[in-house]
Amino acid sequence: MFTEIFMIKTHVLGFPRIGAQRELKQALERFWRGELDETALQATGRALRRRHWQRQREAGLDFVTVGDFALYDQVLDLIQLLGCEPSRFCFGPDDSPLRRAFAMARGTQHASSDGEGCSQHETSQPQAALEMTKWFDTNYHYLVPEFAPTTRFALQAEPLLAQVDEAIALPASPKVALLGPVSFLFLGKSKVEGWERLDLLEALLPVYAQLLTRLAARGVTWVQLDEPILGLDLAPAWRDALRRAYQVLSGADCELLLASYFSPLEDNLALACTLPVAGLHVDAVRAPQELEQVARQLPPERELSVGIIDGRNVWRTDLDAALATLQRVRALRGGRLWVSASCSLLHVPYALSADAGLDAELRSWLAGADEKLDELRLLQRALWGDEAGVAEALARSRAAVAARRTSARVRNVAVARRLAELPADLDRRSSPYAKRQPLQQHRLALPEYPTTTIGSFPQTAEIRATRAARRRGALDDAAYRGTMEREIERAVRCQEALGLDVLVHGEAERNDMVEYFGELLAGYAISANGWVQSYGSRCVKPPVLYGDVSRPQAMTVDWTRFAQGLTDKPVKGMLTGPVTLLQWSFVRDDQPRETTALQLALALRDEVADLEAAGIAVIQIDEPAFREGLPLRRAQWPAYLDWAARAFRIAASAVRDDTQIHTHMCYSEFNDVLPAIAAMDADVITIETSRSDMELLAAFGAFRYPNGIGPGVYDVHSPRVPTTEEMLRLMRKAGAVIPAAQLWVNPDCGLKTRAWPETEAALRRMVDAARRLRAA
Ligand code: GLN
Ligand code: ZN
Repeated sequence: MFTEIFMIKTHVLGFPRIGAQRELKQALERFWRGELDETALQATGRALRRRHWQRQREAGLDFVTVGDFALYDQVLDLIQLLGCEPSRFCFGPDDSPLRRAFAMARGTQHASSDGEGCSQHETSQPQAALEMTKWFDTNYHYLVPEFAPTTRFALQAEPLLAQVDEAIALPASPKVALLGPVSFLFLGKSKVEGWERLDLLEALLPVYAQLLTRLAARGVTWVQLDEPILGLDLAPAWRDALRRAYQVLSGADCELLLASYFSPLEDNLALACTLPVAGLHVDAVRAPQELEQVARQLPPERELSVGIIDGRNVWRTDLDAALATLQRVRALRGGRLWVSASCSLLHVPYALSADAGLDAELRSWLAGADEKLDELRLLQRALWGDEAGVAEALARSRAAVAARRTSARVRNVAVARRLAELPADLDRRSSPYAKRQPLQQHRLALPEYPTTTIGSFPQTAEIRATRAARRRGALDDAAYRGTMEREIERAVRCQEALGLDVLVHGEAERNDMVEYFGELLAGYAISANGWVQSYGSRCVKPPVLYGDVSRPQAMTVDWTRFAQGLTDKPVKGMLTGPVTLLQWSFVRDDQPRETTALQLALALRDEVADLEAAGIAVIQIDEPAFREGLPLRRAQWPAYLDWAARAFRIAASAVRDDTQIHTHMCYSEFNDVLPAIAAMDADVITIETSRSDMELLAAFGAFRYPNGIGPGVYDVHSPRVPTTEEMLRLMRKAGAVIPAAQLWVNPDCGLKTRAWPETEAALRRMVDAARRLRAA
């Protein structure tokens, strides 16, 4: 056992930073409201780091990870560490690093995206925040570095070095984790045409090298450099950049652990195994099929870190299976091995084993970051040969994994049978769009350029308070229903007064477009505290989809019927689509995602049928996450797009020809997936376009998108009320590429984050814009 102790090491690539009780969120928001000063905010950060390192130490990890903590975003911190804040912010010597960071993250007052250069006279030109985008295929959003030929780097190492000192003082042995130089450049953006951001590599590498020297001098032996782009289809120039970067950095005084995750290495496998670093981390959850090859190919003197515990999902690890794998790999590696989670634990909740929202059986199946640390501990001790010491804990884990596998709660025979017996044409409407369209027009009698909204209306403090009171049990069903119906009526009357053509009920009863359905569908559970950071202080609480999905009763019909009863105008039924439910939940890992999506689709199909039977003539099935479900590797795109579009069609196609199906998409660039969007065969798609100035529509036009389309004419994420002229301009731009007969007029997305006055004002102008288009 003695030598094994030195030969098996455990670590994590990163740990959730928001805190077990979202302490970081609270501190940030209090700071922004002016209720907390900078010293207190920094103290919260220090306390969280300390607590999280202590947990890592207790779990017997060989290193605590430093550098994964960030008050807002780790890429933002890296921008500051490397001294490449975009010059458009015109920071002066009086701006503290913290103020600079928040200015980049959140923009400065009255920001516009076309900020001018720094002027000596006007020091505070308002600046838009850095762009934010999804971190690979996760729901975490990072701030996008901005690069230009004028970008300079200058190391600002003190904040990071101070964190290293904090860890050493604990005392603990720090491993510093940072995004590597090539992924850093890759994930940034340049707005300068004809210039390649890779040109900055030679300027960037010396700064990384300097940093490594400073870290080594501070007592750091291992530095983990994340290069997740190793899991992408890379152009040759980027692979060359990786070669060049690690050749330069191999001279450093610390040992480098190169980390890849989220996606198989495939054609980058040989490269990853040959870059001159001291260790390589691979994701053995997303790419188990490559593990053995890596273990053989990686030179024997290097460390192999195996990410065997799922860092992207909440299920307890099958430790027997993990141990078997690790033992095989260890044998290939001459007995030496590092064991870890597949990726940073940032993407899972802090803890789940005591979550108050989940029953004891479910809790026993789950592992948040904290429980995953314990799993690492168990694996390490088992690999040390301490069988007696871990026997009991292993048995408990084994029992929980087995219980989940055989639980009656997971299986629903009726669902399985329905899926097995799916008629081949279940995903087809009875007639093609060309035939449906006139029938729908006959039923709905809509004007040219019909107007509608995306679904939600302002979620006022009163609405939130009412939902919260009901959750606490402080409000009975009748009182709750009464308040919600008053809100629905208010939304309907408002839309009638504004003269909108297709109305919505406003979604007052929905806390969240996924959680709402998760609460009503069987096979889903909602945790009380399973929060995951989305960006900055924003967290999401994805529901846990643990079993076969079915719909015990109708979910939206009563509310929709009530709304339709108030008006002669058509009211849209509103559903969240199967792919978005899948994408924004923690889903089961014991069957393909496709199967889960089809189960969701069948449940939604029944809801669609019930809505139609209740007299609803227009049904919208939102799929904002359709694009983000794309696998990281292009070779896997066709298969995904195929089942994703099919799942949507299965949900949608239960209806008669004269019932109109809408879908809605946002948050993405859709050019890559246009054929699949067309294959969804929705009668109308409403889509976010205003922020890109309708650029997207050129692609829809060139593709000759056949069905109805409502390009968003204004950005709902800003409180600014656009003018009628602006909206007209965007619609004319749309009209230049899409035939008028196909066009709808609507905002970019739902209005739930807006207040009533600006909502009414904007919609009034939008309806006015549509009227003027009709008159023209
Ligand atoms: N129907 C939803 C709403 O209006 C759509 C939200 C979304 O696209 N993210 O709120
Ligand atoms: Zn949207």
